[in-house]
Amino acid sequence: MARCSYHPDVETELTCTECGKPICPKEMVQTPVGYKCPEDARPRKEQLRYVKPRQIAVAAGAGLVTGVGGAFLVVLIGWGGFILGILWGSLVSEAVRRASGGHRGGLVGGIAAGSIVIGTLVTGVGWFTAIIAVVVALIQLAVIQFR
Ligand SMILES: [Zn+2]
Ligand SMILES: [Zn+2]
Repeated sequence: MARCSYHPDVETELTCTECGKPICPKEMVQTPVGYKCPEDARPRKEQLRYVKPRQIAVAAGAGLVTGVGGAFLVVLIGWGGFILGILWGSLVSEAVRRASGGHRGGLVGGIAAGSIVIGTLVTGVGWFTAIIAVVVALIQLAVIQFR
C-alpha cells in the first residue's frame, strides 16, 4: 500500500485526482470531480495568480511574436503612431494573456512590456508609439488600475 504524501506513517489507497499522489482522509479535500490534495484543491482564483513555468514560456513566445511582428507593422504603415500604439499594445497584451492561460498582473505585464521594448529595439519604431503600446498593455493586463 502507498503512504500518504503528507503523513509518511499513514498507509492509503487514495490518490489525488489531479496529480495522482497518495493522500489520506486527514488532508484530502472533496471536490465535485473527486478527492484532491490540498494544493490542487485551492480555489481557482488562487491558482490563476500562479503562472506555471510552461505558461510563462508560451506567453513570452506569444509576446515576442506580437511584440516584434506588431512593431514591423507599425513601421510598415508608418503613420498614426498614437492609434497604432493602442492597437499594438492591445495585440500584445491579448496574446500574452491568452497564451499564459488567462493570467493578468505584474508577471504577464512584464512579459508584454518587455516584448514591446524588444520589438522597438529590433525595428526602430518611435518611442512615442512604443510607450503608448506599453501603457495600453499594462492597463489591459491590470498592472495599472484605475479606481
Ligand atoms: Zn494533487
Ligand atoms: Zn495524509
